[in-house]
Amino acid sequence: MSKVKFYYGNDVPLEMHKVRIVQKLNLLPVEERLKAMEEAGYNTFLLQNCDVFMDMLTDSGVNAMSDRQQAAMLEADDSYAGSATFTKLKNKIEEIFGKKYFLPAHQGRACENIISQVFVKPGSITPMNYHFTTTKSHIVLNGGTVEEIFYDEALKINSDHPFKGNVNIEKLRDLIETNGVDKIPFVRMEAGTNLIGGQPFSLQNMRDVRKVCDEYGIMLLLDASLLSDNLYFIKEREESCKDMSIREITREIADLSEVIYFSARKLGSARGGAICTSNKDVYMKMREYVTLYEGFLTYGGMSVREMEAIAVGLEETMDENMINQGPQFIAYMVEELQKRGVPVVTPPGGLGCHVNAMEFVDHIPQNEYPAGALAAAIYIISGVRGMERGTMSEQRDEDGTEILSNMELVRLAMPRRVFTLSQVKYAVDRVAWLYENRNLIGGLKFVEEPSVLRFFFGKLTTTSDWANELAAKFRADFGDSL
Ligand SMILES: *Cc1c(COP(=O)(O)O)cnc(C)c1O
Repeated sequence: MSKVKFYYGNDVPLEMHKVRIVQKLNLLPVEERLKAMEEAGYNTFLLQNCDVFMDMLTDSGVNAMSDRQQAAMLEADDSYAGSATFTKLKNKIEEIFGKKYFLPAHQGRACENIISQVFVKPGSITPMNYHFTTTKSHIVLNGGTVEEIFYDEALKINSDHPFKGNVNIEKLRDLIETNGVDKIPFVRMEAGTNLIGGQPFSLQNMRDVRKVCDEYGIMLLLDASLLSDNLYFIKEREESCKDMSIREITREIADLSEVIYFSARKLGSARGGAICTSNKDVYMKMREYVTLYEGFLTYGGMSVREMEAIAVGLEETMDENMINQGPQFIAYMVEELQKRGVPVVTPPGGLGCHVNAMEFVDHIPQNEYPAGALAAAIYIISGVRGMERGTMSEQRDEDGTEILSNMELVRLAMPRRVFTLSQVKYAVDRVAWLYENRNLIGGLKFVEEPSVLRFFFGKLTTTSDWANELAAKFRADFGDSL
């Protein structure tokens, strides 16, 4: 896809696949979208998918599968123990990552549960480039804390730094020196750093982190859920890696990691999870937890059909023409929104287009959830469902005080190979209209607030009548258009 230039110079990302199965979409009139949003408690997680036109909530479990993945699913070997499908997936993981031992789990957070239960103790400190919601919850549940050690660039919404997901090496050293090696069970690097906008780390940064880990004898753990985007960015943006193949880059990253885990709802474009390592002690410590929480060791809570699809999906991830589709569509969307003045995270990352709500609705205070309000407004005026990634996604501290997020983002995820370019143009058009009408958007407050991972199930309401006014303005501007 990246190598195709258009004769008339109007370069757009070109899909290197064709559509063979389609799903009909439903675009409700704005009045019905408003009603659906009200019923969902202004929480996009609680919308019914039949009321959503473009589901840009997440890239998790919703990436398009290939014909080969679907075909492989028919060959799955259904058996409780010793399934041939398990062996196939184990061999593929060993071939790609060079890791001897593979522990299956039903999804990414299940891997985090096992890893945290085994390695995190009360008082543990776990350094990482940035936290992910489920990662942090599991670490905290086991009595540990998370220390984010990024460069200042990571939180700059607009930057031209190619690797905002890098670990700050000096801070890592300081943290180890200050707290002592014994308190640190592992250093975690997250590929395609999710919560700061799908931003990658560089291969050189990972080598530097590993060097520090080796000096102090600390384990390096890789969360590879968003590895495919990170691989693409290393190949595109890291001068010294230009001549490496995706497979070679993957292998070096894997060699630098003692333990790798991933959500196969993202990596591998299916649904499942995996932990792998070549360290037998580490493997043995985690093994019993798989049978306790997930299932027998040869399926770990996954359907064997999905395991077949993951094996093929991992192989397809080694194809640059496959992994570049997401990042290139995202770059297109980010650039088109920028042209219309909409504040977005730059440089474009993986995973999705991230709209900067802190600036988009700078009149909404953080304790009224600007990103949550913007996500609700986007749905009302377009039927596009995004996800709040800001203060609502944080957890109150023990005293019930809001922890204000560093960033207030609305993530418009780009499930891989799912949308066409005209659909992306539609989303751009509506978000740009909303930006011109941003003063109509108001805040939100909780009506029902769960104490753990509140963003999933929490219900909110508007702090004024703004949603009705916004829908009315849409109707006035768009006439009888949907
Ligand atoms: C999605 C994700 C997870 C959790 O995976 P699930 O399969 O949703 O449980 C963990 N880490 C990162 C970086 C992710 O993006």
